Amino acid sequence: MLLAFRNGKILTEAGIESGRCLLVRDGHIEAISGAREVVGADQTIDLDGHLLAPGFIDTQVNGGGGVLFNGNPSVESIATIGRAHRRFGTTGFLPTLISDDLHVVEQAILAVREAIARGVPGVLGIHIEGPFLSNERRGVHDASKLRVLDEDAMRLLATPHGGVTMVTLAPERTTPAIIRALTDAGVIVSAGHTNATYDELQPALEAGVRGFTHLFNAMSQLGNREPGAVGAALAHPDSWLGLIVDGYHVHAEVLKIALRAKRHDRFMLVSDAMPSVGADVKEFRIQGRIITVDGDRIIDDEGRLAGAHLDMASAVRNTVNQLGVSLTDALRMASTNPAGFLKLDGRMGRIAPGQRADLVLVDEELSVLRSWIGGLAD
Ligand SMILES: [Zn+2]
Repeated sequence: MLLAFRNGKILTEAGIESGRCLLVRDGHIEAISGAREVVGADQTIDLDGHLLAPGFIDTQVNGGGGVLFNGNPSVESIATIGRAHRRFGTTGFLPTLISDDLHVVEQAILAVREAIARGVPGVLGIHIEGPFLSNERRGVHDASKLRVLDEDAMRLLATPHGGVTMVTLAPERTTPAIIRALTDAGVIVSAGHTNATYDELQPALEAGVRGFTHLFNAMSQLGNREPGAVGAALAHPDSWLGLIVDGYHVHAEVLKIALRAKRHDRFMLVSDAMPSVGADVKEFRIQGRIITVDGDRIIDDEGRLAGAHLDMASAVRNTVNQLGVSLTDALRMASTNPAGFLKLDGRMGRIAPGQRADLVLVDEELSVLRSWIGGLAD
């Protein structure tokens, strides 16, 4: 099956190009041709002048379509969340479980394994955010669920399930040896909800911590004599930094400073989405507590932010409009960069030969018109 995408702009490795034609054979990108027309294609897709970009990859998705992953970690929940976010261009995602009991963590891992086995579109693995977190920096995570990351928990996290396992942990609640064992087992480790000092983070980074979860939020801050987790994240040249660009979690000027401090290919946009994305939900519960959707913010009964009412297309739009980032860089922060963080860059995240044909078509306002996963249209 040969698909030819024509008559639009394409974000390739060279930037946004016009007058090219993208060829997709059997779900994978075969070539980006200089020809405007292709002879022999089974199907030609007219892009009508719009922009074709790599599909968005979201490493932090708590919910969507009215469903919270923690509320019911099942294949059906994963499928519902994936459908809700796909309308906003997400073609790859990690259902994200916030701090919970280990038997729930295990249930979530098994659900992801089953979802991948059944071919639920877009699911790439799981993000286990906690419960190995700092009590001081727990945010809305339930204090009673927090625990140290010991060897029992490590064995659970290292259980293979056919996809990526990403774990957000507070390095001060475990040891560099356990972080090393996790990364050796293929787990992607991200520091977050951490009160660690700059000095405490250095051995954790050496042991394999690959990134920082929602930079600035729920972590030790950059101070004059103590750089904190924020300083460690910005000073480290190679680590990836998750950003929630919803206009509420971090002030735009603070994000702009961060963007000037580090190479742009190390930033990745996340939604940190809650059930309200893709559904008309005004209120839901996390582990029994009432969470309210207040305009574009999501807050708990004490007024703390509890995840975001954000989708990836809006995150890209905000990054361009509020932070002044180029469209090319912003789109890569939503696709190429998270693929690199997840070590999936050989398979997805770019429009280049050999990559899976995960694609999103957007208009001038960055509204999503269509998406494809493995060359299959939504
Ligand atoms: Zn968090």
